[in-house]
Amino acid sequence: MNSSVIHPKVGVGEKVFLSIGSNQGDGRANINDALRALSLMDGVDINSASSFYLTSPVGMDTGQWFLNCAVEITTLLSPLELLDRLEEVERNMGRTQKGELAPRVIDMDILLYGRSVVLHPRLSVPHPRMEQRRFVLEPLAEIAPDAVHPVSGATSREMNERVAGQQSIRQDASPHW
Ligand code: ADP
Ligand code: MG
Repeated sequence: MNSSVIHPKVGVGEKVFLSIGSNQGDGRANINDALRALSLMDGVDINSASSFYLTSPVGMDTGQWFLNCAVEITTLLSPLELLDRLEEVERNMGRTQKGELAPRVIDMDILLYGRSVVLHPRLSVPHPRMEQRRFVLEPLAEIAPDAVHPVSGATSREMNERVAGQQSIRQDASPHW
């Protein structure tokens, strides 16, 4: 398979946006735990986190609503190193199933990694489905309305406006870690 990684600013720390979601167990506690794990990671600093959002499931055979949150970090880790660390947190928190349609105690996705474009068998950045997902864009637009998608050039505010009618969503409490 073809893979390419374009890295404009290696070594200076990249501004990265993550999406964190949970629809199993205590969603607030799960996301707070994931944020705490992120805050303890070498080479990762949390800059800000959105409110929690309660969101209706999309394309999933479950009645259980999701809790979603967006996070801005600065990291010295490469995209694949970061993915490894996020998957480690998911495993430590007891996530066993991978795959789009399974309920999950925690899901940590990389949305934007600076202005980099990553096309690797394990990792696509920008996240390929972010532009279709209100549950990703609503929290992202809260903390970074001017963050730009490096391929389309759209800001997160613009992307979010395009999916405004898409699914039920309700702002919830704020995270703490
Ligand atoms: P999803 O997050 O799409 O609901 P999973 O969490 O089960 O589904 O992830 C499926 C696979 O997606 C992972 O094994 C991971 O390698 C891959 N992946 C591709 N791009 C990304 C990304 N930007 N962030 C996180 N995982 C990604
Ligand atoms: Mg995931």
